[in-house]
Amino acid sequence: DNEANIISGALQLTNKSVEDVMTKIEDVFMLDVNTVLDFEKMTEIMHQGYTRIPVYDGEKTNIISLLNTKDLALIDPDDKTPLSTVCKFYDHRPLFVDYDLRLDAMLQTFLQGNSHMAIVQKLHNTDDQDPYFETLGVITLEDVIEEILQSE
Ligand code: ATP
Ligand code: ATP
Repeated sequence: DNEANIISGALQLTNKSVEDVMTKIEDVFMLDVNTVLDFEKMTEIMHQGYTRIPVYDGEKTNIISLLNTKDLALIDPDDKTPLSTVCKFYDHRPLFVDYDLRLDAMLQTFLQGNSHMAIVQKLHNTDDQDPYFETLGVITLEDVIEEILQSE
């Protein structure tokens, strides 16, 4: 029944990693830090419906900030404000986690911290090249809760 499902879902958290439930990078709605917040762009952002939007510099794997759509409340589209100005003002530093992190640990981090989204990365460290982080996707508190409720 439902209660047994929830308990079972909660117990499963230690067996699953953030990579198992994240939203893959190619499906993430992101913004280039050089975006200009004119009427058209702000309309597009609002229509997407996401509250938290990763902001990248250059390549989509280079996430430097998070935009919270409520940060747009005081922006006048006629001012054509650069997104970089908004990012500097609110300065939401993204939380980065390893793809291997277990979901119970992810849940604790979300509940302790002040961010409900994390950027999922994988460290590549081989002898023949410099170590680098690959960005795999994003995970939010909702993704973890869905695992507990097993509502997918
Ligand atoms: P909230 O409910 O707090 O307004 P939201 O609806 O924007 O937030 P969540 O509820 O946190 O988003 O997540 C719902 C699903 O959408 C999750 O699977 C999450 O990984 C995904 N998601 C969240 N933000 C984005 C984004 N910017 N682009 C693509 N998918 C996202
Ligand atoms: P998010 O971090 O998802 O963008 P948020 O920061 O507005 O959203 P939550 O993360 O849902 O809010 O909640 C964080 C904490 O702040 C919770 O303890 C919640 O009860 C509290 N909180 C949220 N909104 C308010 C509010 N309007 N006034 C006072 N406390 C609030």
